[in-house]
Parts: sequence; C-alpha cells; structure tokens
Amino acid sequence: MKEQVTGCIVNSVGSMKKIILLFMTALTISACTGHKNENVSTDSRPFDYVVEKFADLEILRYQVPGFESLTLNQKQLLYHLSEAALMGRDILFDQNCRYNLAIRRLLEAVYTAYDGDREDEQFKALEVYLKRVWFSNGIHHHYGEEKFLPGFSPEFLVDCVRKISASELPLRPGQTTDQFMMEVFPVMFDPNVLSKKVVQSGDRDLILASANNYYAGGITQKEVEDFYAKMKDPNDNTPVSYGLNSRLIKEKDGTIREKVWKVGGLYTEAIEPIVAELQKAVAYAENSAQKAIIEKLIEYYRTGDLKTFDEYAVLWVKDTDSEVDFINGFTETYGDPLGMKASWESTVNFINKEATKRTKIISDNAQWFEDNSPVFDRFKKKEVKGVSAKVITVSMLGGDCYPATPIGINLPNSNWIRRDHGSKSVTIENITEAYDKASQGNGFNEEFVWSDAERESMKKYGFITDNLHTDLHECLGHGSGIILPGVDPDGLKAYSSTLEEARADLFGLYYLADPKLLELGLVPDREAYQAEYYKFMMNGLMTQLVRIEEGKDIEEAHMRNRQLIARWAYENGKADHVVELRQKDNKTYVVINDYAMLRELFGALLSEVQRIKSEGDYEAGKQLVEKYGVKVNPVLHNEVLERYAKLNLSPYKGFVNPVMREVKNTKGEVTDVVLDYTEGYADQMLRYSRDYSFLPTYNE
Ligand code: ZN
Repeated sequence: MKEQVTGCIVNSVGSMKKIILLFMTALTISACTGHKNENVSTDSRPFDYVVEKFADLEILRYQVPGFESLTLNQKQLLYHLSEAALMGRDILFDQNCRYNLAIRRLLEAVYTAYDGDREDEQFKALEVYLKRVWFSNGIHHHYGEEKFLPGFSPEFLVDCVRKISASELPLRPGQTTDQFMMEVFPVMFDPNVLSKKVVQSGDRDLILASANNYYAGGITQKEVEDFYAKMKDPNDNTPVSYGLNSRLIKEKDGTIREKVWKVGGLYTEAIEPIVAELQKAVAYAENSAQKAIIEKLIEYYRTGDLKTFDEYAVLWVKDTDSEVDFINGFTETYGDPLGMKASWESTVNFINKEATKRTKIISDNAQWFEDNSPVFDRFKKKEVKGVSAKVITVSMLGGDCYPATPIGINLPNSNWIRRDHGSKSVTIENITEAYDKASQGNGFNEEFVWSDAERESMKKYGFITDNLHTDLHECLGHGSGIILPGVDPDGLKAYSSTLEEARADLFGLYYLADPKLLELGLVPDREAYQAEYYKFMMNGLMTQLVRIEEGKDIEEAHMRNRQLIARWAYENGKADHVVELRQKDNKTYVVINDYAMLRELFGALLSEVQRIKSEGDYEAGKQLVEKYGVKVNPVLHNEVLERYAKLNLSPYKGFVNPVMREVKNTKGEVTDVVLDYTEGYADQMLRYSRDYSFLPTYNE
C-alpha cells in the first residue's frame, strides 16, 4: 500500500500526507527535528523546489539531505539500486496501456525534430500533452484514470509526422507511416477509444472496460475470476499473490494463459538490465542479510516464481538493520480493477535516524493499540508481529513512484506475510518536506477553512497531527486486524482497495484523539487532534473535489475512502449536528460542532469496516463505498471548483529526480557518488527515454 498527498497544498490536505518535523522543536518531540535545518546544497542560495507548472500539474524537486555523509560503499550501493530503479520505466508505460510506448516515442520524435516556431499554439499544446504523457506514464490521467485529449489538431500532428523519416518513428515491422497514423491517432484523439485506464464501477465488465494492459485477447472478468479461483486452495494458509507478475491472455483458440514478466518472458528486455544492476549492487551490500535479499530478488526476476517472491518479501520485511533500503518490482495493484496485477515501481532510500525515533514509539506500542481498538475482539490480532516503521530519505524514484510520488509506503501487501512476519512501513520525509516548502502561504486555507479558530489550530498542530495520522495509518492501520479463516482475501474485489484505505485511515483518526498519544509524548495536548479532524472532514466533504472534473464520479481508492469516511460521519451524525455544511457569503464551509462525538463515529465506522474485511462481506462493502464514496454533489462540486480556480494552484504534484553520478579517478576507480539537482523536467524525461528505454514499442 502506498499513500500520496491528498490535496493541493500541505496545509490543507487530508490524512495520508506526511508533514515534516521542522516545526516540532517547539513542541514535545525534539528528537525528530535533527537534520532539518541543515542546508544541504553546497552554495548558500535557498534550494529551488519548484521546477515548472503545466495542465493540472506542478513539478517539484526534492533534496537528499545526509547523502554526502554516507560511506562510499553505501553510495555505490545506492547508485546501482538507483540505476536499477530507472531501468523499468518502459514496463509501466506498457502496463498502463498497450499504445503508450508508441505514443510517447512518436511525440518525442516530433518534439525533438520540430524545426518550426516553438511558440506556436499548436506546438505548445503538443509540448503540454507530451509532458502529461511523461507524467502519467501514458495517455491516461495518473490519478483520475481517464484519457486526457491533445490540445492540438490531428492535422498539425500529421504535418509534423510527415517531416520525420520513417526510421525515426515507432512503426511496426513493415508498417507505413500512414498505416501507423491510422492505427495510433484514434487512440490519441478519439475520446471513445481506450477511454479509461481502470474502470472500477461495480456493474460493468471491469476487465473489458479498462484500457490497461494487464489482460488481453478479449478476456472477460468472469473468465479472469474463474481462472484464478481454480488456482486458489481455500485451505492454503500461505497463498502466493496469484497473478501478480503476469498478463493474462485469451488466445484465439480460447485457451487462457499467463505471460509472466521475467527474464526470458514478457518485458525481458527491461528486466535483464534491472537484474544486471542488481548484481552490481550485491557487491556493495551492507551485510549478509541485505545481500541475500538482493540475490533473492534476482532469482525471482529470473524465474518469475511467486513463491520465490514471497521468500524475498519475507527476507525484506525482516531486514530492519540495513541503513540503505529499496523497493524494486511488481508491487502495487491499484492499476488492476481486480487488485491482482501489480505495476512496476522502485524507490531507493536510506534511513533518517533522528526522525525514526518518533515512529519507533508508535511501533513499540503496536499491541496496545490493537488491543484497545473499537473493533470486535474476534477480528483483532492476538499478537501483532514485527511492526517496523521508519522515516526515510529517498534518493531515486522509478516506475509507478515517479514522477507522482508516494509519501508513505507499507509493504509487503501479502496478507499472510503481514500476519506471520509483519510489515515494513515508511514515511518519506524529504518528499513531504518538498511539498511543504513548495506550498507555503498559497491562500488555500484562507479560502476554504471556516474561521480563524480552525486556521489557528491547523497552523499550530497541523504538522504534527498530519504526520501522526500518516504514521498511524501506515504503521498500525494497515497492519491491524485479521481475516477470518477461509475468507478469500480478494473477495472484496473492486472495493477492496477503498475499504483497506478506509480501515487504515479510520484507525489513525480514532487514535489521534486518544489520551494514549499524550501519554506517549506524541502530541502536545488533548486538543491537537482537532486540527487533523477538521482537515480531514473539509478535504473529504469538499476540497478533494478539486481533483475531479465537473460531472465525474470519484474513482481513485484513496479519494473514495476519504469521502466515504467524511460523508458517513456527516450523515450519521446529522441528527446530533456533529458536522455541518454551513453557508457564509454564498460559500459553503465545513463546521465541526462536536469533536468527541465525531471520534465516536470514526470508531463505529472502523468497527464496521474491519468486520467487512474480516468476514469478506462483499455486499456490505459495496453498499458502503457506492453510497458514500463514489457520487459527488454536483452543486457543491461546482462551487469548490470555482473557488479553487481563482487560487491558481495545481491539484497534483510530482518530482524530478536528482542526477546521480559516479566520480572516478585516473585509474577508473569510483571515488565518490554525487548528486546534481539542476536537471529540468523535459531534459530528464528525454534522457530517461534515451538511456533507460529497453522495451520494444509493442509488447504483445
Ligand atoms: Zn494506506
């Protein structure tokens, strides 16, 4: 599971976001402040976080504080893991839609060869479209999943394409330029072709309706479900993650089979260089446990065996001693409406020791939180295992973590591994710091928060409570509770991601208001939680709608979860006026009248969502999500969009990576690894497409 920033600016967004501890010195947790005041850039100018803005996106850059102080060995390890993190970029493009690589390569060819006026409106629209394709790793919006359309005309593109020699174009063998355009243009320009990457609404064939490339050959949802149902043994207590690393296809003769992503299988052209870099990394492993982890991952990439993947995940989750850590592989399943197929991603990171002291307090008390939750005892974990939580600094992002970047990650996703071996939960603090710094004082709270009292509270406590909510969500929420024996962990189908996020969010919300946090020294007083409650309700009921186009429903799991919680609490507390939507000067605001009662409502909903998960109650889960999480109030939506537009902010943000370089002496030996923060967005994307692009245009 991973968490992304929920809204538009750091001060105004909801639960998952991770705010930096810069402001904690004044409060109780001085341990967490540490390095934050260090200026890591070598000159004295302030670090420039904002790279550029286009469409609904803002590109930022992040710093890597502490990198210089690592040992040469650690830096070399990070270097090779970082190279491996970039090698899989094409895989994600192809997973997202089978035409993505063709369209990206076509646009890049036009963009670099174009010799006309670069200020021309048509060309500028092409540039924006290409930047969006880079950002989304394809032609569908990275968050909303719908296809975005070019702002230039097909005629303009035809003219451009005709000026390029056929050898520069991503043609199929034997294909002419005209045939190529006939094939690819409708995918770009026709709104009805491959219109949505992931369709999650419950009443359609989710597989046929989705434009992603996890399934092929016209296979239906029923056929997919039957195929995997046959593989599953209800008595298997440690099942592999079926379907995780393959495309499922129906052949012309009707046979159904998996094409596994591995060395020698599908995507081998990208997986082989990943493996080659991982092999180089082995030589710089910090210890034998880490060496074994990397070697096991290599074995998995070579065999595609999901049992080997589980062995790798167990080794990985147990390693809490290494300072350098990484994710590299087919990991998260948000892109598959059935939640089985995983997109490729990578992060490379090292621990932030000072900030990790805070998360350690939480994980050390994990059993207490589990025992005292408002959930029925039969759904609780008797023994909470191996909850490890740390704050990390990322040094490279790849695949589905780039450029849109998570702020927290909790892995592995396998239920039985979490049950028997625990999970590793991280908060990515150099990313949240960049979010924070880039968005200070942008007018958002002035527009949407009810009164000075709430604004003051958010200013005073928002950093701490937002942080803590993410910690609790990641470290405890996702790891809490059990699935009853015999219940299919995939049984909640299209609703499982939303309900899982709701469970984790509610766990965090419920405990934020608990006196235990004060006792542990994690909050300064008993009122601090109100800042996060206000922020959460405002975001869930109103302001997260800035990310939804007029007339559209909510699709993304984290967003559905947040509206589900906020609307459920609003509706169920209505009789007691717990939360109101109140008007002032023709504007709508969230007003919370009774914070204590709101906490009780969160507790009640947590109990119900845990029951749904524990018992695999699909119908009840569907009811909850469809009733509260999906539909949008059109009048309120419109108002929020209008108010937001006036602020001129970008609802989504992403990051460029630093450039990582080896420094060599005259003998060719590596003497250092250095970071450069000056590369621009388009330059980075073109460089990646040049140096880290290994897949054929069509992977069929
Ligand atoms: Zn989560």
